[in-house]
Amino acid sequence: MMAGLSRTVFTGGVVAPRTSVLGLFRVSKVAGPVSKCSRVKTLVTSAAQKNTNTEYVIVGGGNAAGYAAKAFVENGAAEGKVCIVAKENVAPYERPALTKAYLFPVDKSPARLPGFHTSVGGGGERQTPDWYKEKGIEVLYGTEVTGLDIDKQSLTTSSGDTISYNKLIIATGCTASRLPEKIGGSLRGVHYIRDVADADQLVAALQSAKKVVVIGGGYIGLEVSAAVSAWKLDVTVVFPEQHVMPRLFTPTIAAHYEELYKKNNVKIIKEVSVVKLKSGANGEVDGVELTDGTTLDADLVVVGVGARPVVAPFLDAGLKSEAGAIEVDGMFNTSSPGVYAIGDVAAFPLKIYDRRTRVEHVDHARKSATHCVESLVKGKTEAYDYLPFFYSRVFEAPGSERKVWWQFYGDNVGECVEVGNFDPKYAAFWIESGRVKGVFLESGSAEEFALLPKLARQQPAIDIPALKSADSVETALQIAQEALGKQKVATV
Ligand SMILES: Cc1cc2nc3c(=O)[nH]c(=O)nc-3n(C[C@H](O)[C@H](O)[C@H](O)COP(=O)(O)OP(=O)(O)OC[C@H]3O[C@@H](n4cnc5c(N)ncnc54)[C@H](O)[C@@H]3O)c2cc1C
Repeated sequence: MMAGLSRTVFTGGVVAPRTSVLGLFRVSKVAGPVSKCSRVKTLVTSAAQKNTNTEYVIVGGGNAAGYAAKAFVENGAAEGKVCIVAKENVAPYERPALTKAYLFPVDKSPARLPGFHTSVGGGGERQTPDWYKEKGIEVLYGTEVTGLDIDKQSLTTSSGDTISYNKLIIATGCTASRLPEKIGGSLRGVHYIRDVADADQLVAALQSAKKVVVIGGGYIGLEVSAAVSAWKLDVTVVFPEQHVMPRLFTPTIAAHYEELYKKNNVKIIKEVSVVKLKSGANGEVDGVELTDGTTLDADLVVVGVGARPVVAPFLDAGLKSEAGAIEVDGMFNTSSPGVYAIGDVAAFPLKIYDRRTRVEHVDHARKSATHCVESLVKGKTEAYDYLPFFYSRVFEAPGSERKVWWQFYGDNVGECVEVGNFDPKYAAFWIESGRVKGVFLESGSAEEFALLPKLARQQPAIDIPALKSADSVETALQIAQEALGKQKVATV
């Protein structure tokens, strides 16, 4: 999610002050561009060099890396030129699946690789390991980069190999924040979910689990608890805020979702933090002690309390950092010429709101990857102009009585006008100085969802009294559509 030089919105166990979903620490001025790529040294390859393709080296192997590979192929710049260095042992995949269809019970056709390799989420060809081979892209699987030497234009790996690059794209994403070991954060039975190996361990543990406690009322907590509810286990979600998704949802929006979770037998305990994860006689977690003095029985705990950008070893090598991430300009240049950062790990200028931010969202991973590659190989010169977008889909397992699917575009600032009864639709419009700034929609049609980015991007003046008296989501969207139309007429 978005972290306006801020903490991630993927929180759960940390109380965050109420603020825009776009983040806590606003920076009023967009920093000047980081120096542009101008110096590219002649590569000197060493005998111990591990990679064959040296022109563009991508460190990562996640969502952004997969979409960067796609963009290199689409621009005819992949074959023999691109190398992906991936810590995971699998080709890039659509990470959001891990807390959605991947967690369906085994009898409900859970998603498994190779089904969700990139770029299926972005509407592209499925990039299996063979796809990379066919396109002449080298992928070094199971390879962790541990060192960067900017002067030598080389990376080192945990096994001591050297990787040379001409241009380097850092796409290392985030790592799940952990609860401290001293309060039981590393006990057996305590799960964190960032990659497919974590998801496999969780699925294996769910087979014999009875009482599941999910820590965190943000994205991860809500998606995991909704998925686990289909396993018919005893599930409780705990978090310190007043309602779920506090950075984005209003109390009313949150109340609708909380009600739905309760109907699905997911218990919710708010405004409590974890004091300790308790260990049973066998060394496995057997309880969660809370600040209200109660202890919940648990044989499986899933922690979803946010994530941190993976910046080592790049900051140590001298790249400029920003709020714990790698600082880039609107073309994804870092402070070092020829080195770029994209996806979750990059702090970039959010042009539309004239401030800087970091985003933990797959839409940004895809778009930042494409933009960076196009600037590298096509000479694209326009700065990245991202429109914040968040979505979630839960309770989608086959047989679910009520699936939910929401999208949000823009910024949740100003007055919020909410319309609908959540049966199934619901809409919310954030309005500042008479103009639409952010818009949320649950259970819209494809056509209705398509209206949201237009509203958030164009920020039309809207008839607030009419919106407030709208008797249905459809009517409210019609009013918004008319506002867009009037804005168009005014600008023609
Ligand atoms: C469980 C889960 C569910 C999510 N659900 C949603 C959702 O519903 N919607 C949404 O928009 N976003 C969602 N997100 C966020 C989204 O997946 C991320 O924003 C996106 O994956 C970021 O892409 P990335 O390439 O920057 O990082 P990642 O996809 O995390 O990829 C980074 C890769 O780099 C590798 N790596 C790290 N360090 C090194 C190193 N030193 N050497 C080599 N490789 C390294 C990692 O192993 C990883 O494979 C979810 C995230 C998670 C974890």
